[in-house]
This record gives sequence, C-alpha cells and structure tokens, in this order.
Amino acid sequence: MEKLRIPRITQDSCKKHLLRGRSVGFVPTMGALHDGHLSLVRRAKMENDIVVVSIFLNPLQFGPAEDLDKYPRDIEGDIRKLSKEDIDILFIPDNSLMYPQGFSTHIEVGAVSEKLCGKFRPGHFSGVATVVAKLFNIISPTRAYFGQKDFQQTVIINKMARDLNFDADIIVCPIIREQDGLAMSSRNVYLDSEQRIAASALYRCLIKASDSVQSGITSGEQIRALMRDFLSAVPLISEIDYASVYDAETLEEVAEIKKEALLAIAVRFGDIRLIDNILLIL
Ligand code: AMP
Repeated sequence: MEKLRIPRITQDSCKKHLLRGRSVGFVPTMGALHDGHLSLVRRAKMENDIVVVSIFLNPLQFGPAEDLDKYPRDIEGDIRKLSKEDIDILFIPDNSLMYPQGFSTHIEVGAVSEKLCGKFRPGHFSGVATVVAKLFNIISPTRAYFGQKDFQQTVIINKMARDLNFDADIIVCPIIREQDGLAMSSRNVYLDSEQRIAASALYRCLIKASDSVQSGITSGEQIRALMRDFLSAVPLISEIDYASVYDAETLEEVAEIKKEALLAIAVRFGDIRLIDNILLIL
C-alpha cells in the first residue's frame, strides 16, 4: 500500500494506472474506519484493478458549532485495517495542500442540498460536493463507492457527477449495522452506554414504519406520525431533526407512498447527532 500525501503526486500515480488500462476504484472517507467503510473497500477491490482510499477530515463540511475538533481520529488503526485489505494507494492529504491559502471555489448542488440534513447543517453539502469534486479530479476514479448510510450525500454526489460530467460510476453500497441494528458510524463512539442501547431505536423505528407500509398504510402523514410517536417515546432522544418519508430522487416529503420511497431519520442524543434510513421498494 502506497501512502501518498501530495495531490499532484497522487494524480500522477492514478493517471499511470489509468493509462495502462487499469480500472481505479475509489473510496473517500474521513477515517476512524469501521466495518461500514471496509465493506466499501472490499466492494471496490472486487470490481476494480486498483483501489484508492482517501482519509481526509474535510473542514469544509463542518459548521462552526459542529464536532470537527473532537471527531474521532485513529490514523494508526486505519492504516492497520487498510493494510489487511490489500489496497493500492492510501491518499492522506494535509489540509494545507487541499485548501491552500486563497482557496475560494465551492460547489453548490442546489435544492437537494437544502432538505433533510441540509436544513440543520447549512453549508455541509457544499463542503461535501467541493471535496468530492477535488478528490475526483485528483484520483480520476473509474468507480467511486459511497454508503447508503448517507443517503442524501449519494443523491448529491450523483447529481453533481451528472451535472458536471464526471465520468466516474457512483456505486451506492448497503448500510452495515451492529447486531442490534444500529448503523455503524465513526460517531457512535461518542455514545455513552445508555445512549448506545437507546440508539438501536432508530433502526427499530425504520423497521416498524417499513412493516406498516408493507402491510398497506401508504399515507405519508400516517407513517410520519408513527415514526415521530415511536422516537418521542425514547427518553434519551433530546431532539428529532426529522423522521419522515421522502421521494428517493427529489427528497421531497411524499403524501402517498407509491413504488419507491425513502424512510429517513435524524435525531440527537444531547449533542450527538445520528442518522439512518431504509429504502422501501413496494
Ligand atoms: P465517512 O468517513 O463518515 O465520511 O464515511 C465514508 C463513507 O463510508 C461514506 O460513503 C459513508 O456513507 C460510508 N459509510 C459510513 N458508515 C457506513 C455504514 N455503516 N455502512 C456502509 N457505509 C458506510
């Protein structure tokens, strides 16, 4: 595994592979890797000749009151885990090389960025789109792998890739969960033991809503009410940012659930914010 820090050198290295006709699979991450991240790496490994993973804690996607400073970091552990996956390039750029003085270009993807998490994290998706565009220009991936865990992010990256003619295939991978259903997340380490137990309520809520839809309740309003009632009864949840049913492309709330719909939740346990979702296919 080659460890590279400098964008220009990484770009040259990836280009060499592409010129030799090799496909490049790319997995962008912010580190503190868990089995969710590794599932993306394994999929990339299966489908490509060369696998590039990036670890970059992107300051652009954190608001001033968010957790950038205390975000979990474990670079030694990450390198150990990636060494076992037999990847080709680990790209760990420094902040100053990604955003040198005078950096001022930002990507705005538009309406889909304003919904769901966008309402509560202003500027977040512009930060995500900007760093992913930079990473795509450095790596030139044949395929890029993202988790369904961050469903809205996948919608935004897909749209950006289409709108700006990036030629990477965007591959969305299933959510990897703990035994009790909690979606794996680097942020789960913030939860204390009581919060950790209570956090499985997100998945139980999604399953309950999903079962209700499958058994014939297709009113968006009824499903919303059911999800909110369920989450309101979990004592350690201090805030429900959203819990609803959405069109999986436009991310608009739906009145009547038809073929496909997204059930999505964001809640807070104190200042710890957790998200989860299920894609419903009727
Ligand atoms: P992050 O390091 O949080 O930016 O995540 C890097 C990538 O891993 C993103 O595409 C996430 O959606 C994906 N990811 C995070 N958690 C999971 C999970 N539990 N299952 C599958 N993919 C995940």
